[in-house]
Amino acid sequence: MRRKKSYSSVVFMLIFFTLVGASVFVYNAKMFERVAPEVVIKSNGFWNMRSPLSISLKDLSGIVNYRVTLITKDEEFDLDSSTLLTPKNSINLELKVPKKIFRFKDKQVKIVVEASDASKWNFFAGNSVKKEIVLIIDKRRPNVSIVANSYKIRNGGSAIVVFKAEDENLKDLYIELSSGKRFKAKPFYKDGYFISLLAWDIREEHFKANVVATDEASNVSKAYIPLYLKVKRYKVSKIKLSNKFLDGKIAQLSEEFIESDGLEDPIERFKAINEDVRAKNEALIHEVTSAVDDKQISSFRINKFYPLKNGQVVANFGDHRLYYYNGEKVSESYHLGIDYASVKMGSIKASNSATVVFSNFNGIYGNLPILSHGLGLYTIYGHCSSVNVQEGDKVRAGQEIANTGTSGYAMGDHLHFGMLVQGIEVRPQEWMDKKWIKQNITDIIKDAKKIIDHKN
Ligand SMILES: [Zn+2]
Repeated sequence: MRRKKSYSSVVFMLIFFTLVGASVFVYNAKMFERVAPEVVIKSNGFWNMRSPLSISLKDLSGIVNYRVTLITKDEEFDLDSSTLLTPKNSINLELKVPKKIFRFKDKQVKIVVEASDASKWNFFAGNSVKKEIVLIIDKRRPNVSIVANSYKIRNGGSAIVVFKAEDENLKDLYIELSSGKRFKAKPFYKDGYFISLLAWDIREEHFKANVVATDEASNVSKAYIPLYLKVKRYKVSKIKLSNKFLDGKIAQLSEEFIESDGLEDPIERFKAINEDVRAKNEALIHEVTSAVDDKQISSFRINKFYPLKNGQVVANFGDHRLYYYNGEKVSESYHLGIDYASVKMGSIKASNSATVVFSNFNGIYGNLPILSHGLGLYTIYGHCSSVNVQEGDKVRAGQEIANTGTSGYAMGDHLHFGMLVQGIEVRPQEWMDKKWIKQNITDIIKDAKKIIDHKN
């Protein structure tokens, strides 16, 4: 009896542990996994029915069958379905819509994705999933049209455009140049209208501008801005670097910047200042002057700029400087402002009301205030000896903002006056000319308002 009892308990234990082991195996094994397939429908809730519908299916034991159905108000369409002999862990679908469905006028459709996996769980039936998503159908492209624009633009110069852009699901709106540069437009005057200044970067050979509008359903519209292109030749000068200059000003400047500090070779020092330090300083200027806010405007009044009384031009905008040493070209740069000299510590005045967006030391530009005049138009004042304004200050027309000097990379007391449109340096001469401002900016805005008033 005793022996038999102990024998049966051993058998019992054996069966018990086998069952426990099997259960643990069933619970953990891939072939008995209990997770339903993961279904991801890549969508923001909008669909133009032209771009394919991206759906991904994932499962540990593998997908054995799936079906994608499109449901309209009255009908159901099988977009795709499949039964797989070899289960797949991952399936990516790019489903195109049959032409007959594209003609449906439904404002929305439902997409249903069903899938089952190869798991032996659920008495070998596997795990199933059913996922539904409602998509808003938007097959219409945004409506974009040019209302008015400047007649011409020069390389290195500015222009303006007013346009209309409408879409019930508008997502992105910008002006794109052939160079890839994008300008942001501001709401203008009445709903659906926008305005932007444009600039043709002096370093770009070609110029072509389009208004681009995209909606939530990825419909895209483009409108070409018809600007007459005027090509201006800028000065190219060869400058011989003297040892006196390299051992004097450059040696002294090189200690101020980490890019050039410690360099022994005078040409390496010059290159570090003229290229690396310059690039860093210009990047800061471009960043600060790229901002445009979203506030609606109805007008943009600007006086001609006249920053320094009786200032004599000592260097011009667009000068392409090629630097030579011992007959060999060692570096180059573009001068992207106008240099004016008058008396020492001459009074620099703001010609237009503005907000100070930067006021600090900026490398080769020295002490540099930057003013924002609205609509993405900015002015910069380099090499100042002293600056009377701080970041955030509001400045009125006629107010003294700084005094000329020699801070940064400057040989004598002067003002480096620069103008930028959304981060691109432009010819200040245009904005210093009352007639140019009227013909190319103010009159265009006036015309645009007349056209908009007639349309409404
Ligand atoms: Zn300059």
